[in-house]
Amino acid sequence: MTGVRAPINAVSRQPFDVCIVGAGIIGLSLARAVSERWPKASIVVLEQNAGIGQETSSRNSEVIHAGLYYPPGSLKSRLCVRGNALLYEYCAQHYIPHQRLGKLIVAQAGEEAALENVLASAQACGVASLRSLTKAEISALEPRLQSAAALWSPDTGIVDSHALMQRLQQEAEQNGALIAPHSRFLAAHCQGPGVFDVDVDAGDTAGGDSEPFRLRCRMLINCAGLAAHQVAGAISGIDKSLIPERHLVKGHYFALSGRSPFRHLIYPVPDASHRGLGIHATLDLAGQCRFGPDIEPITDVDYTVDESRKSAFADAIRRYYPALDETRLHADYAGIRPRLGSAYADFMIQDEYVHGCPGLIQLFGIESPGLTASLALAELVTLKLQDQAPL
Ligand SMILES: Cc1cc2nc3c(=O)[nH]c(=O)nc-3n(C[C@H](O)[C@H](O)[C@H](O)COP(=O)(O)OP(=O)(O)OC[C@H]3O[C@@H](n4cnc5c(N)ncnc54)[C@H](O)[C@@H]3O)c2cc1C
Repeated sequence: MTGVRAPINAVSRQPFDVCIVGAGIIGLSLARAVSERWPKASIVVLEQNAGIGQETSSRNSEVIHAGLYYPPGSLKSRLCVRGNALLYEYCAQHYIPHQRLGKLIVAQAGEEAALENVLASAQACGVASLRSLTKAEISALEPRLQSAAALWSPDTGIVDSHALMQRLQQEAEQNGALIAPHSRFLAAHCQGPGVFDVDVDAGDTAGGDSEPFRLRCRMLINCAGLAAHQVAGAISGIDKSLIPERHLVKGHYFALSGRSPFRHLIYPVPDASHRGLGIHATLDLAGQCRFGPDIEPITDVDYTVDESRKSAFADAIRRYYPALDETRLHADYAGIRPRLGSAYADFMIQDEYVHGCPGLIQLFGIESPGLTASLALAELVTLKLQDQAPL
């Protein structure tokens, strides 16, 4: 991503109303929402990297999910459904490249019951647009697809996540927020209700101080994605036993060179253990087809993609696309989910009512559908800020 700017210690040492840790899609959505809601608030977003959105927010499928798979009433379900509507509206208003392509969820012989479960779950979550397709409709939509049955989700689409983040950054900055790259959160000390001293390292920029410095803020929001647990562990005065267990789960992608065999997104029936949505086919906005992600539990952040995974990918893809030419598959990129628990777990938002520290909000486990849910999540956190300590 672009966006290299002056380090924060060269710009401002004033107390801030709000300090957001992490300039991924969530931190940026929040900076925009808070700066819009409270135009006079001073807001800083600390980002350890040289630019915005270089971690999970630029290492995903870029799919605008419709909210089909999550338990009714869960945060993932509610924020995905609301986020889907908000995101399409935002993209249209701000000319952000996106397409409401639609997706097929395909079952092979013997898997039909799993499709029924997806349909029932989506309906329970208020997603009325999902429906079954006839054989003739499946062939008309995707002639190269092999399936015994399929569902059609017209509200699933794709978005240019980079353009989206750049626009959110631009809006937040126009509203006066300061997005500070090369600014690594080190620790925070709660000095009383709504008073935090935050230690920041801006030392690795050319010409920047090598000494960490301290800023003060009234509200502190932890949107550090994969590192949310480390950030939480470095905030003094909160009960560390509240920090949930984190499991890193890596997902690899393989790109298909040449013309895409599909015009829509193709998903197999989801893994019954809720560990993932299966190796699916997505398209980018240029029409290029890629497959993924798979699931690999890991202990350290490592984004390499091993070409030796190709045959496992090919086996999974051939279940719904038997004509796959494996020589057209190439290792592409990988992303990492910060999962809470070994199977399904909801997003977790901890506020004063959980940890007893006014002014602090922490977000954990913001895995898929976090991109889709981003604007809705920002809306919810903004309401919580208003409730906790009015700006
Ligand atoms: C393989 C995969 C596929 C996915 N596909 C989809 C999809 O198709 N649709 C969908 O809706 N969602 C999808 N998701 C989920 C989505 O990508 C994430 O939920 C979302 O990007 C999380 O955004 P974030 O801002 O919380 O995290 P991040 O993008 O990781 O941002 C956190 C930021 O915090 C910064 N940071 C960390 N520690 C510090 C520190 N100490 N000081 C300063 N900054 C710090 C990091 O550098 C980073 O920029 C997918 C996720 C994965 C892994």
